[in-house]
Amino acid sequence: MVDPETKWYKDVGRRVVMKTIWGGEYIENWHYWFHGSLMDLSNQYKLLVACPSTPEWSDILLDYAKRSKELGVRAVFYDYWCHIRPYLCFDKSHAHSHPATAYAPGMLAIMERVRTEMTKEDPEFAIITEGITDVAGQFVDVVQGLVKGPGRRIYAPGGEDPSHETFPELLRYTFPELILSNRAIDAEDIDCLNWAFVYGLLFDVEIDFNRGTLRDAPTLAAACKKLCQIRSSYSDLLLEGTFVDVEGFKLGNGRLVAKGYKSGDKFAVLVWNPDQAEQPLQLEVPGYRLEKAVGTEGEASQVPATLGPNKVLALLYGT
Ligand SMILES: [Zn+2]
Repeated sequence: MVDPETKWYKDVGRRVVMKTIWGGEYIENWHYWFHGSLMDLSNQYKLLVACPSTPEWSDILLDYAKRSKELGVRAVFYDYWCHIRPYLCFDKSHAHSHPATAYAPGMLAIMERVRTEMTKEDPEFAIITEGITDVAGQFVDVVQGLVKGPGRRIYAPGGEDPSHETFPELLRYTFPELILSNRAIDAEDIDCLNWAFVYGLLFDVEIDFNRGTLRDAPTLAAACKKLCQIRSSYSDLLLEGTFVDVEGFKLGNGRLVAKGYKSGDKFAVLVWNPDQAEQPLQLEVPGYRLEKAVGTEGEASQVPATLGPNKVLALLYGT
């Protein structure tokens, strides 16, 4: 998206944005939510759609990847790319041969360029975007897109919904090779963090819809750090293992949420207690023996008899 108030738009961007069949610009109105409906109505912001088939826009997006690297991040995130509608671009001065080939081929060319350039120095540099398509899958490393968590509506403060809106088991089990994040863990929302951990989703933290940072949520930041350390310490299972949902083990308490991960002759069960009360933990994993139970508050050599409210536990098994 291009901000028409910028100098870059006036100097370069007006040539680069996509054109409608009438020669005009595609205009999108974006806004951050507010707690009052009048403010919500009043803060709309006009943005224009850039044509991905222009070299100027390709340069801008490669520069974003380079800037991420300069800031110490080994990835770049391009919002929306794999699920936004593909506009037609009728600007005949652009490089595309047809209005319909402006969008998707342009996006793919940019992703290929960014990947080629950025992995020269860091082969692990990742491209993250939102949504999944087969053709983009050759360049995309991480997919942002699974909804926030059980009973959560994104960007609707206080909008708790008693029903579960997501069914991540279907996608995780069918395509376990995809690296996915959850969506928009907000300030001190530890249960959404725990939910993402148990489902094997990378943590997408968006404090106050990115108007804040983890510095504004010290409890969440500390919990995030501990769970990332657990994942890194047992990455063969918890990052690279295969999500097997509830196969291979039997959980004796329906108030707990548990998911299994398999890697070679190793097995892990991640358990979360979303309940307000401490819950008994009974677990059978036939054919395996427990090697370690790891939680945010330490390790044990046996499965604990109970799990505290909103706690998670990684149970690591061998044969
Ligand atoms: Zn164009």
